[in-house]
Amino acid sequence: MSERESMECDVVIVGGGPAGLSAAIRLKQINEELEVVVLEKGSEIGAHILSGAVVDPKALSELFPDWRDMDCPMAETPVTDNWHWVLSKSGKTSMPHFIMPPLMSNHGCYTGSLGNLTRWLGEQAEGLGVMVFPGFPASEVMFDDKGAVRGVITQDMGVAADGSHKGDYQPGMEIEAKYTLFAEGARGNLTKQLKVTFDLEANCQPQVYGLGIKELWDIDPKKHVPGRVIHTQGWPLTESDSWGGGFLYHQANGQVALGFVTALDYKNPWVSPYQEFQRWKQHPAIREYLEGGTRVAYGARAINEGGWQSVPQLAFPGGALIGCAAGFVNVPRIKGSHTAMKSGMLAAESIAAAIGAGQ
Ligand SMILES: Cc1cc2nc3c(=O)[nH]c(=O)nc-3n(C[C@H](O)[C@H](O)[C@H](O)COP(=O)(O)OP(=O)(O)OC[C@H]3O[C@@H](n4cnc5c(N)ncnc54)[C@H](O)[C@@H]3O)c2cc1C
Repeated sequence: MSERESMECDVVIVGGGPAGLSAAIRLKQINEELEVVVLEKGSEIGAHILSGAVVDPKALSELFPDWRDMDCPMAETPVTDNWHWVLSKSGKTSMPHFIMPPLMSNHGCYTGSLGNLTRWLGEQAEGLGVMVFPGFPASEVMFDDKGAVRGVITQDMGVAADGSHKGDYQPGMEIEAKYTLFAEGARGNLTKQLKVTFDLEANCQPQVYGLGIKELWDIDPKKHVPGRVIHTQGWPLTESDSWGGGFLYHQANGQVALGFVTALDYKNPWVSPYQEFQRWKQHPAIREYLEGGTRVAYGARAINEGGWQSVPQLAFPGGALIGCAAGFVNVPRIKGSHTAMKSGMLAAESIAAAIGAGQ
């Protein structure tokens, strides 16, 4: 049995998404001497991020005020027009802007690949000296003798399906840190354990989730309007009295990102989120864009839908939850990347101050 290797740092961050990378960047911006490690289970930064998004640049502008001049991929496609459709089986009603709450406006936002934005954040983090380790899932939390979090252990490599060690077995590494930030996204494994260990959900509503299925399509250039953003509600979920909605974003390079979220508290056991997405794509208003096009990528992911009242206690001895691990999604806007980034930045500021004060 080989010994575990270990390393020490000031802050270890579990998850290299928008939240984790923004936290890492902010820590280094405040104090370049801090040793900051980001562990990402994907084979590269951005590998596990579902691409198409409309991003509110608020937090990005606070992190890098001149991000538009820094070759940031998100700067490419500002939102140009914004539609909210209520679908019936074959028709659509376009909601007038003046009756929509102001938060539903996407004016000033950008549409593009969240994966590419995350890759860009990863490059910025590495440029500032953050140690970014893709391909390293954190699999266990370490506690000190007072019960405070003191870091994480990365997953053992070379373990067979039956649990036996293969020839290339390597035990995971202990990463010991003064503070550990958990930025695993929605329903992370370690986050779930921490919620139980520290009873973090004692004073909030239970978190609830939706399942989002996304696709990226190359469409007929004649139908492509860069910066057009469409959100839909209504059909097909009205047929099963379920909740959710669709989106279709015209991004750069003649592509559209489209997707459908089905709230997972549906009562009808026959509802299939995947089939509802397929039906939605067949709606004349959506099909019109896709006909003659080609799907180039697809994926699915959970999204927090509990809102503000489901945000748990964030901090505990030795660490904190940030981003979607904490449930920071503005549900009606289907936006969580800016809140993820901002929560990471705020956590970083508190940690840098605490370390600066010798705590
Ligand atoms: C269908 C859908 C559509 C969306 N559309 C938008 C949109 O248009 N605009 C918007 O702003 N937001 C949108 N969101 C929400 C947005 O994707 C999230 O709010 C945002 O990605 C959260 O960032 P995060 O860093 O907290 O988590 P994530 O982006 O989920 O990143 C977490 C990272 O941690 C890694 N990780 C997890 N566990 C571990 C572990 N144990 N060890 C190491 N690494 C780990 C993962 O691989 C991942 O890279 C959408 C979400 C969905 C599901």
